[in-house]
Amino acid sequence: MPTAKQAAQERLESARGDLVSLSHRIHSRPELGFEEEHASAWLCETLDAAGFEVEKGAAGLATAFVARAGNGPLHIGICAEYDSLPGIGHACGHNLIAAMSAGAGIAAARVADELGVTVVVLGTPAEEVGNASGKIVMLERGAFDCLHASMMVHPAPFEAATMKIIAASMFDVCYHGKEAHASAFPELGINAADALTIAQTSLGLLRQHIRQTDRIHGIVTKGGDAPNIVPAHTSARYIIRSDNLEELQELRAKVRRCFEAGALATGSKLEIQGGDQPYAHMHHDLGLAAIYQRNAEALGRKFPDLGPLRDRVAASTDMGNVSQAMPAIHPAVGIDSLPAVNHQPEFTAACITPTADQALFDGALAMAWSIVDLASDASTRTRLLTRS
Ligand SMILES: [Zn+2]
Ligand SMILES: [Zn+2]
Repeated sequence: MPTAKQAAQERLESARGDLVSLSHRIHSRPELGFEEEHASAWLCETLDAAGFEVEKGAAGLATAFVARAGNGPLHIGICAEYDSLPGIGHACGHNLIAAMSAGAGIAAARVADELGVTVVVLGTPAEEVGNASGKIVMLERGAFDCLHASMMVHPAPFEAATMKIIAASMFDVCYHGKEAHASAFPELGINAADALTIAQTSLGLLRQHIRQTDRIHGIVTKGGDAPNIVPAHTSARYIIRSDNLEELQELRAKVRRCFEAGALATGSKLEIQGGDQPYAHMHHDLGLAAIYQRNAEALGRKFPDLGPLRDRVAASTDMGNVSQAMPAIHPAVGIDSLPAVNHQPEFTAACITPTADQALFDGALAMAWSIVDLASDASTRTRLLTRS
Protein backbone atom coordinates (compact mmCIF):
# COMPACT_ATOMS: atom_id res chain seq x y z
CA MET A 1 0.00 0.00 0.00
CA PRO A 2 1.34 3.49 -0.81
CA THR A 3 2.56 5.27 2.29
CA ALA A 4 0.09 8.12 1.69
CA LYS A 5 -2.81 5.69 2.03
CA GLN A 6 -1.30 4.25 5.16
CA ALA A 7 -0.82 7.70 6.67
CA ALA A 8 -4.41 8.66 5.84
CA GLN A 9 -5.66 5.44 7.44
CA GLU A 10 -3.65 6.00 10.62
CA ARG A 11 -4.99 9.55 10.87
CA LEU A 12 -8.57 8.30 10.44
CA GLU A 13 -8.07 5.57 13.02
CA SER A 14 -6.90 8.13 15.55
CA ALA A 15 -10.09 10.13 14.94
CA ARG A 16 -12.43 7.12 14.86
CA GLY A 17 -13.86 7.45 18.38
CA ASP A 18 -14.55 11.17 17.94
CA LEU A 19 -16.21 10.65 14.56
CA VAL A 20 -18.51 7.91 15.85
CA SER A 21 -19.53 10.05 18.80
CA LEU A 22 -20.09 13.01 16.45
CA SER A 23 -22.38 10.83 14.32
CA HIS A 24 -24.34 9.66 17.37
CA ARG A 25 -24.58 13.18 18.75
CA ILE A 26 -26.03 14.52 15.49
CA HIS A 27 -28.39 11.53 15.41
CA SER A 28 -29.67 12.26 18.91
CA ARG A 29 -30.40 15.88 18.09
CA PRO A 30 -32.11 15.85 14.68
CA GLU A 31 -32.44 19.27 13.02
CA LEU A 32 -34.45 20.10 9.91
CA GLY A 33 -33.03 21.71 6.77
CA PHE A 34 -31.50 25.17 7.27
CA GLU A 35 -31.95 24.77 11.05
CA GLU A 36 -28.92 22.50 11.59
CA GLU A 37 -27.35 24.87 14.09
CA HIS A 38 -25.81 22.21 16.35
CA ALA A 39 -24.69 19.75 13.69
CA SER A 40 -23.03 22.52 11.72
CA ALA A 41 -21.28 23.94 14.82
CA TRP A 42 -20.05 20.49 15.93
CA LEU A 43 -18.66 19.75 12.47
CA CYS A 44 -16.91 23.13 12.35
CA GLU A 45 -15.37 22.48 15.78
CA THR A 46 -14.16 19.04 14.69
CA LEU A 47 -12.59 20.35 11.48
CA ASP A 48 -11.11 23.40 13.18
CA ALA A 49 -9.48 21.15 15.81
CA ALA A 50 -8.05 19.04 12.97
CA GLY A 51 -6.33 22.10 11.51
CA PHE A 52 -8.83 23.13 8.82
CA GLU A 53 -9.43 26.78 8.05
CA VAL A 54 -13.18 27.02 8.62
CA GLU A 55 -15.53 29.58 7.09
CA LYS A 56 -18.87 29.46 8.90
CA GLY A 57 -22.09 30.76 7.36
CA ALA A 58 -20.72 30.16 3.84
CA ALA A 59 -22.73 31.43 0.85
CA GLY A 60 -24.86 33.50 3.21
CA LEU A 61 -26.46 30.38 4.72
CA ALA A 62 -26.26 30.27 8.53
CA THR A 63 -25.73 26.51 8.74
CA ALA A 64 -23.42 26.09 5.74
CA PHE A 65 -19.64 26.08 5.99
CA VAL A 66 -16.52 25.62 3.91
CA ALA A 67 -13.43 24.11 5.56
CA ARG A 68 -10.06 23.98 3.79
CA ALA A 69 -6.79 22.15 4.42
CA GLY A 70 -3.68 21.88 2.28
CA ASN A 71 -2.31 24.14 -0.44
CA GLY A 72 -2.19 21.98 -3.54
CA PRO A 73 -3.48 23.09 -6.94
CA LEU A 74 -6.00 20.23 -7.18
CA HIS A 75 -9.09 21.17 -5.16
CA ILE A 76 -11.29 18.26 -4.09
CA GLY A 77 -14.66 18.87 -2.40
CA ILE A 78 -16.25 16.50 0.10
CA CYS A 79 -19.89 17.32 0.84
CA ALA A 80 -21.28 16.86 4.33
CA GLU A 81 -25.05 16.69 4.78
CA TYR A 82 -26.63 16.84 8.24
CA ASP A 83 -30.35 17.62 7.99
CA SER A 84 -33.01 15.27 9.29
CA LEU A 85 -36.61 14.47 8.35
CA PRO A 86 -39.74 15.76 10.11
CA GLY A 87 -41.04 13.31 12.71
CA ILE A 88 -38.63 10.45 11.98
CA GLY A 89 -35.24 12.04 12.76
CA HIS A 90 -32.15 10.85 10.92
CA ALA A 91 -34.05 8.36 8.77
CA CYS A 92 -31.78 9.11 5.81
CA GLY A 93 -28.59 8.68 7.82
CA HIS A 94 -27.22 12.17 7.27
CA ASN A 95 -25.56 11.86 10.69
CA LEU A 96 -23.34 9.25 9.05
CA ILE A 97 -22.71 11.44 5.99
CA ALA A 98 -21.68 14.33 8.23
CA ALA A 99 -19.14 12.32 10.23
CA MET A 100 -18.00 10.35 7.17
CA SER A 101 -17.25 13.49 5.15
CA ALA A 102 -15.48 15.15 8.08
CA GLY A 103 -13.46 11.94 8.55
CA ALA A 104 -12.57 11.71 4.85
CA GLY A 105 -11.45 15.33 4.96
CA ILE A 106 -9.34 14.85 8.09
CA ALA A 107 -7.69 11.71 6.70
CA ALA A 108 -7.01 13.28 3.29
CA ALA A 109 -5.75 16.51 4.87
CA ARG A 110 -2.97 14.50 6.53
CA VAL A 111 -1.45 13.86 3.08
CA ALA A 112 -2.86 16.83 1.12
CA ASP A 113 0.37 18.76 0.65
CA GLU A 114 2.46 15.78 -0.44
CA LEU A 115 -0.31 14.95 -2.96
CA GLY A 116 -0.63 18.51 -4.25
CA VAL A 117 -4.22 18.70 -3.11
CA THR A 118 -6.40 21.20 -1.29
CA VAL A 119 -9.08 19.31 0.65
CA VAL A 120 -12.35 21.22 0.95
CA VAL A 121 -15.10 19.92 3.22
CA LEU A 122 -18.35 21.68 2.38
CA GLY A 123 -21.13 21.77 4.94
CA THR A 124 -24.17 21.61 2.70
CA PRO A 125 -27.42 22.08 4.63
CA ALA A 126 -30.98 21.12 3.81
CA GLU A 127 -30.61 18.26 1.33
CA GLU A 128 -34.13 17.04 2.11
CA VAL A 129 -35.99 20.29 1.37
CA GLY A 130 -36.57 19.51 -2.31
CA ASN A 131 -36.16 23.01 -3.74
CA ALA A 132 -33.49 25.73 -3.50
CA SER A 133 -31.55 23.47 -1.14
CA GLY A 134 -28.10 23.99 0.39
CA LYS A 135 -25.97 22.81 -2.52
CA ILE A 136 -28.13 24.62 -5.09
CA VAL A 137 -27.75 27.94 -3.26
CA MET A 138 -24.03 27.32 -2.58
CA LEU A 139 -23.43 26.51 -6.26
CA GLU A 140 -25.28 29.63 -7.29
CA ARG A 141 -23.26 31.78 -4.86
CA GLY A 142 -19.88 30.40 -5.90
CA ALA A 143 -18.99 28.15 -2.96
CA PHE A 144 -18.11 25.30 -5.36
CA ASP A 145 -16.28 27.49 -7.89
CA CYS A 146 -12.70 26.58 -6.98
CA LEU A 147 -13.31 22.80 -7.00
CA HIS A 148 -12.12 20.31 -9.62
CA ALA A 149 -14.28 17.44 -8.36
CA SER A 150 -16.71 16.63 -5.54
CA MET A 151 -17.72 13.53 -3.66
CA MET A 152 -19.85 12.22 -0.84
CA VAL A 153 -21.12 8.81 0.25
CA HIS A 154 -24.73 8.11 1.27
CA PRO A 155 -25.94 5.35 3.61
CA ALA A 156 -28.36 2.88 2.05
CA PRO A 157 -29.56 -0.68 2.59
CA PHE A 158 -26.88 -1.93 0.18
CA GLU A 159 -23.63 -0.83 -1.46
CA ALA A 160 -23.68 0.85 -4.89
CA ALA A 161 -21.02 2.81 -6.76
CA THR A 162 -23.47 4.66 -9.03
CA MET A 163 -26.95 4.70 -7.58
CA LYS A 164 -29.70 5.98 -9.86
CA ILE A 165 -30.39 9.66 -9.12
CA ILE A 166 -33.21 11.39 -10.97
CA ALA A 167 -34.39 14.99 -11.27
CA ALA A 168 -36.96 16.27 -8.79
CA SER A 169 -38.99 19.34 -8.04
CA MET A 170 -40.92 20.16 -4.88
CA PHE A 171 -43.61 22.81 -4.69
CA ASP A 172 -46.56 23.96 -2.58
CA VAL A 173 -50.07 24.25 -3.96
CA CYS A 174 -52.71 26.48 -2.33
CA TYR A 175 -56.37 26.90 -3.20
CA HIS A 176 -58.31 29.95 -2.10
CA GLY A 177 -62.10 29.58 -1.96
CA LYS A 178 -64.78 31.08 0.24
CA GLU A 179 -66.17 30.13 3.64
CA ALA A 180 -69.88 29.54 4.22
CA HIS A 181 -72.11 27.62 6.64
CA ALA A 182 -71.72 24.11 5.27
CA SER A 183 -75.39 23.23 5.97
CA ALA A 184 -77.38 26.47 5.96
CA PHE A 185 -75.71 28.36 3.08
CA PRO A 186 -73.48 25.89 1.15
CA GLU A 187 -74.39 27.55 -2.15
CA LEU A 188 -72.45 30.64 -1.02
CA GLY A 189 -69.24 28.70 -0.40
CA ILE A 190 -66.34 27.93 -2.72
CA ASN A 191 -64.86 24.63 -1.58
CA ALA A 192 -61.05 24.65 -1.66
CA ALA A 193 -60.93 21.06 -0.33
CA ASP A 194 -62.98 19.89 -3.33
CA ALA A 195 -60.41 21.59 -5.56
CA LEU A 196 -57.71 19.45 -3.97
CA THR A 197 -59.80 16.29 -4.35
CA ILE A 198 -60.31 16.99 -8.06
CA ALA A 199 -56.58 17.67 -8.50
CA GLN A 200 -55.70 14.39 -6.78
CA THR A 201 -58.22 12.49 -8.90
CA SER A 202 -56.76 14.07 -12.04
CA LEU A 203 -53.24 13.15 -10.93
CA GLY A 204 -54.39 9.57 -10.38
CA LEU A 205 -55.72 9.44 -13.94
CA LEU A 206 -52.60 11.15 -15.27
CA ARG A 207 -50.49 8.27 -13.96
CA GLN A 208 -51.62 6.20 -16.97
CA HIS A 209 -50.06 8.79 -19.29
CA ILE A 210 -46.64 9.43 -17.85
CA ARG A 211 -43.32 7.66 -18.33
CA GLN A 212 -42.64 4.64 -16.14
CA THR A 213 -39.68 6.55 -14.77
CA ASP A 214 -41.80 9.56 -13.69
CA ARG A 215 -43.05 9.91 -10.13
CA ILE A 216 -45.71 12.10 -8.51
CA HIS A 217 -46.17 12.07 -4.76
CA GLY A 218 -47.55 14.52 -2.25
CA ILE A 219 -49.28 15.26 1.01
CA VAL A 220 -52.17 17.50 2.03
CA THR A 221 -50.77 20.11 4.39
CA LYS A 222 -54.09 21.83 5.12
CA GLY A 223 -57.51 20.33 4.46
CA GLY A 224 -59.84 22.82 6.14
CA ASP A 225 -60.66 24.00 9.65
CA ALA A 226 -64.04 22.46 10.59
CA PRO A 227 -66.62 20.28 8.87
CA ASN A 228 -69.33 22.90 9.33
CA ILE A 229 -67.31 25.59 7.54
CA VAL A 230 -66.85 25.24 3.77
CA PRO A 231 -63.04 25.03 3.49
CA ALA A 232 -61.77 28.30 2.05
CA HIS A 233 -58.03 27.60 2.25
CA THR A 234 -56.36 24.30 1.52
CA SER A 235 -52.82 23.38 0.60
CA ALA A 236 -50.66 20.47 -0.45
CA ARG A 237 -46.98 19.81 -0.98
CA TYR A 238 -45.94 17.73 -3.95
CA ILE A 239 -42.78 16.32 -5.46
CA ILE A 240 -42.53 15.32 -9.10
CA ARG A 241 -39.56 13.40 -10.49
CA SER A 242 -38.30 12.36 -13.89
CA ASP A 243 -35.25 10.69 -15.32
CA ASN A 244 -33.74 14.09 -16.19
CA LEU A 245 -34.51 17.81 -16.09
CA GLU A 246 -35.89 17.89 -19.65
CA GLU A 247 -38.46 15.18 -18.94
CA LEU A 248 -39.26 16.86 -15.64
CA GLN A 249 -40.28 19.99 -17.55
CA GLU A 250 -42.79 17.97 -19.59
CA LEU A 251 -44.20 16.30 -16.49
CA ARG A 252 -44.48 19.65 -14.73
CA ALA A 253 -46.81 21.02 -17.42
CA LYS A 254 -49.11 17.99 -17.17
CA VAL A 255 -49.19 18.06 -13.39
CA ARG A 256 -49.94 21.76 -13.39
CA ARG A 257 -53.05 21.16 -15.53
CA CYS A 258 -54.34 18.70 -12.91
CA PHE A 259 -54.09 21.38 -10.24
CA GLU A 260 -55.71 23.91 -12.59
CA ALA A 261 -58.59 21.44 -13.06
CA GLY A 262 -59.35 21.66 -9.33
CA ALA A 263 -59.50 25.43 -9.48
CA LEU A 264 -61.59 25.48 -12.65
CA ALA A 265 -64.20 23.02 -11.37
CA THR A 266 -64.71 24.72 -8.03
CA GLY A 267 -64.12 28.37 -8.89
CA SER A 268 -61.32 28.64 -6.37
CA LYS A 269 -58.04 30.38 -7.01
CA LEU A 270 -54.86 28.35 -7.48
CA GLU A 271 -51.45 29.45 -6.24
CA ILE A 272 -48.23 27.45 -6.71
CA GLN A 273 -45.07 28.32 -4.79
CA GLY A 274 -41.59 26.82 -5.11
CA GLY A 275 -40.53 24.31 -7.72
CA ASP A 276 -38.32 26.97 -9.28
CA GLN A 277 -34.93 25.45 -8.32
CA PRO A 278 -35.21 21.71 -8.95
CA TYR A 279 -32.76 18.93 -8.21
CA ALA A 280 -30.91 17.81 -11.32
CA HIS A 281 -30.30 14.19 -12.30
CA MET A 282 -26.86 12.87 -11.39
CA HIS A 283 -24.14 12.61 -13.98
CA HIS A 284 -21.82 10.06 -12.31
CA ASP A 285 -18.15 10.45 -13.15
CA LEU A 286 -17.51 6.81 -13.99
CA GLY A 287 -13.74 7.10 -13.64
CA LEU A 288 -13.99 8.47 -10.11
CA ALA A 289 -16.76 5.99 -9.24
CA ALA A 290 -14.50 3.09 -10.30
CA ILE A 291 -11.66 4.48 -8.16
CA TYR A 292 -14.02 4.71 -5.19
CA GLN A 293 -15.36 1.19 -5.70
CA ARG A 294 -11.84 -0.29 -5.88
CA ASN A 295 -10.90 1.40 -2.63
CA ALA A 296 -14.11 0.34 -0.87
CA GLU A 297 -13.57 -3.24 -2.08
CA ALA A 298 -10.03 -3.13 -0.73
CA LEU A 299 -11.65 -2.50 2.65
CA GLY A 300 -13.82 -5.58 2.23
CA ARG A 301 -17.00 -3.83 1.09
CA LYS A 302 -19.10 -5.90 -1.31
CA PHE A 303 -20.98 -4.33 -4.23
CA PRO A 304 -23.91 -6.64 -5.09
CA ASP A 305 -25.27 -6.91 -8.62
CA LEU A 306 -28.54 -5.05 -8.11
CA GLY A 307 -30.06 -6.15 -11.44
CA PRO A 308 -33.31 -4.31 -12.24
CA LEU A 309 -33.31 -2.82 -8.73
CA ARG A 310 -30.51 -0.51 -9.81
CA ASP A 311 -32.85 1.54 -11.98
CA ARG A 312 -35.98 0.97 -9.91
CA VAL A 313 -34.49 2.38 -6.71
CA ALA A 314 -34.19 5.95 -7.90
CA ALA A 315 -34.02 8.90 -5.57
CA SER A 316 -33.00 12.53 -5.92
CA THR A 317 -30.38 14.75 -4.33
CA ASP A 318 -28.92 18.17 -4.91
CA MET A 319 -25.60 16.37 -5.45
CA GLY A 320 -27.12 15.96 -8.93
CA ASN A 321 -26.75 19.72 -9.41
CA VAL A 322 -23.13 19.52 -8.28
CA SER A 323 -22.54 16.74 -10.82
CA GLN A 324 -23.79 18.99 -13.62
CA ALA A 325 -21.11 21.53 -12.68
CA MET A 326 -18.06 19.25 -12.16
CA PRO A 327 -16.98 15.60 -12.00
CA ALA A 328 -18.78 14.12 -9.00
CA ILE A 329 -19.65 10.85 -7.31
CA HIS A 330 -22.36 9.83 -4.86
CA PRO A 331 -21.86 6.15 -4.01
CA ALA A 332 -24.01 4.35 -1.46
CA VAL A 333 -22.53 2.58 1.54
CA GLY A 334 -24.56 -0.34 2.88
CA ILE A 335 -25.56 -0.38 6.55
CA ASP A 336 -27.26 -3.78 6.44
CA SER A 337 -30.62 -2.28 7.37
CA LEU A 338 -33.02 -4.48 5.38
CA PRO A 339 -35.95 -4.83 5.60
CA ALA A 340 -35.64 -1.21 6.76
CA VAL A 341 -35.04 1.35 4.02
CA ASN A 342 -34.34 5.09 3.96
CA HIS A 343 -37.08 7.37 5.31
CA GLN A 344 -38.43 4.75 7.75
CA PRO A 345 -38.05 5.06 11.53
CA GLU A 346 -36.45 1.60 11.50
CA PHE A 347 -33.72 3.05 9.25
CA THR A 348 -33.21 5.83 11.81
CA ALA A 349 -32.43 3.14 14.36
CA ALA A 350 -30.08 1.42 11.90
CA CYS A 351 -27.97 4.57 11.53
CA ILE A 352 -26.25 4.24 14.94
CA THR A 353 -25.53 0.50 15.02
CA PRO A 354 -21.97 -0.91 15.07
CA THR A 355 -22.52 -1.82 11.38
CA ALA A 356 -23.36 1.82 10.61
CA ASP A 357 -20.32 3.00 12.57
CA GLN A 358 -18.15 0.67 10.49
CA ALA A 359 -19.75 1.99 7.28
CA LEU A 360 -18.88 5.50 8.47
CA PHE A 361 -15.24 4.51 8.84
CA ASP A 362 -15.06 2.56 5.57
CA GLY A 363 -16.84 5.27 3.56
CA ALA A 364 -14.52 7.93 4.98
CA LEU A 365 -11.40 5.90 4.28
CA ALA A 366 -12.52 4.88 0.80
CA MET A 367 -13.04 8.58 -0.02
CA ALA A 368 -9.66 9.55 1.43
CA TRP A 369 -7.94 6.75 -0.49
CA SER A 370 -9.77 7.80 -3.64
CA ILE A 371 -8.34 11.28 -3.20
CA VAL A 372 -4.85 9.74 -2.92
CA ASP A 373 -5.47 7.80 -6.15
CA LEU A 374 -7.00 10.58 -8.21
CA ALA A 375 -4.23 12.96 -7.16
CA SER A 376 -1.43 10.46 -7.85
CA ASP A 377 -2.71 9.05 -11.13
CA ALA A 378 -1.30 11.37 -13.79
CA SER A 379 -4.12 11.00 -16.30
CA THR A 380 -6.93 11.46 -13.76
CA ARG A 381 -5.15 14.40 -12.20
CA THR A 382 -4.62 16.08 -15.58
CA ARG A 383 -8.21 15.39 -16.62
CA LEU A 384 -9.56 17.06 -13.46
CA LEU A 385 -7.14 20.00 -13.56
CA THR A 386 -7.64 20.80 -17.24
CA ARG A 387 -11.40 20.35 -17.37
CA SER A 388 -12.88 23.38 -19.11
ZN1 LIG B 1 -33.42 11.31 2.23
ZN1 LIG C 1 -30.33 11.44 2.16
